[in-house]
Amino acid sequence: MHQEQVIIIGAGPCGLSAAIELQRMGLDPLIIEKRNIVHSISQYPVYMQFFSSPELLEIGSIPFTTAQEKPSRLEALNYYRTVALRHNLRIRAYETVLGIESAGNGFELRTENRFGEPSVFQAHNVVVATGYFDQPNMIGIPGEEMEKVSHFFREAHPYTGMEVAIIGGSNSAIDAALELERVGARVTVVYRGENYSRSIKPWVLPTFESKVAKGLIRMQFASRVVEIAQREVVIEDLSGTRSSLPNDFVLALTGFHPDREFLTHAGCAIEPEGYPFFHEETMETNVPGIYLAGVVASRHEANEIFIETGRFHGRKIAEHLASRRG
Ligand SMILES: Cc1cc2nc3c(=O)[nH]c(=O)nc-3n(C[C@H](O)[C@H](O)[C@H](O)COP(=O)(O)OP(=O)(O)OC[C@H]3O[C@@H](n4cnc5c(N)ncnc54)[C@H](O)[C@@H]3O)c2cc1C
Repeated sequence: MHQEQVIIIGAGPCGLSAAIELQRMGLDPLIIEKRNIVHSISQYPVYMQFFSSPELLEIGSIPFTTAQEKPSRLEALNYYRTVALRHNLRIRAYETVLGIESAGNGFELRTENRFGEPSVFQAHNVVVATGYFDQPNMIGIPGEEMEKVSHFFREAHPYTGMEVAIIGGSNSAIDAALELERVGARVTVVYRGENYSRSIKPWVLPTFESKVAKGLIRMQFASRVVEIAQREVVIEDLSGTRSSLPNDFVLALTGFHPDREFLTHAGCAIEPEGYPFFHEETMETNVPGIYLAGVVASRHEANEIFIETGRFHGRKIAEHLASRRG
């Protein structure tokens, strides 16, 4: 049995930031991460650029400077990895926390490593920083389970010459459509909104609109995909009129949501609106000693917390733990 003062679940930017803040309070937290440092970012589109400028992604007050105005995925991987290594953060990589249970005056965490070997850890406090990226929002339409459908976009090359339907109207959808068009895919973006989302990066939108105006990308507003078949997708507009489009691949880029069940099993209360209860000023849940950090604390479909904001949760947690220790 391993005994720890604080265990952080998840080595995303917000889990790492929490670890540094706790270190500063004289604690030496253990991070347990089911893959490796900033795993979610390593799964993002290979050539993506963040919408945030680098200083807004900094953790532990360590400067993040980049060649361009916005960091690339590779620069972010390099930054967070370096920060974790320089701070000698204790990370057990490739180990999944399966559950948290109250035990004595703390908690017991059951884990399984990549060889399927179980372990049990005891901790006085637990910070859940598990993010949301493992849980794409499913649309719930026939055909969504087909192999040609993906909820993640990595890179455009495999789609050259193919008919691709992108579902969604966020930055991810717009960025993917542009990349796909550049490699010669025939792209249709199907979006339920009647206009472009206001969150789209303003420096990207003009390029996208120009491609649509030239007929290089098809944009279908106020529409949704209602069925996916082997060689086509069925689209329905606001009036209920259906049409079908030839299709080889579907990218359902409809966002993600945190794993709430992991929290409820640990006794954490979920508000009637569906988000976890926590105290704003401390990030502590209704279970004393269990804290939330990062996007797992999101209220609305995971969009109001991102690295820019979630990186500050760790400081609140560290200050609260320090005040408890007197
Ligand atoms: C394409 C894209 C672009 C983005 N651009 C920006 C941007 O420009 N600016 C910005 O601020 N935000 C941006 N975001 C959002 C941002 O990346 C997330 O908000 C951020 O990653 C959240 O950090 P986190 O630490 O809360 O969670 P995550 O980064 O998701 O980290 C959670 C970690 O927990 C691990 N984990 C999960 N469950 C377990 C378990 N049971 N046991 C052990 N480990 C576990 C995961 O493997 C993961 O490493 C972007 C997101 C996407 C998808």
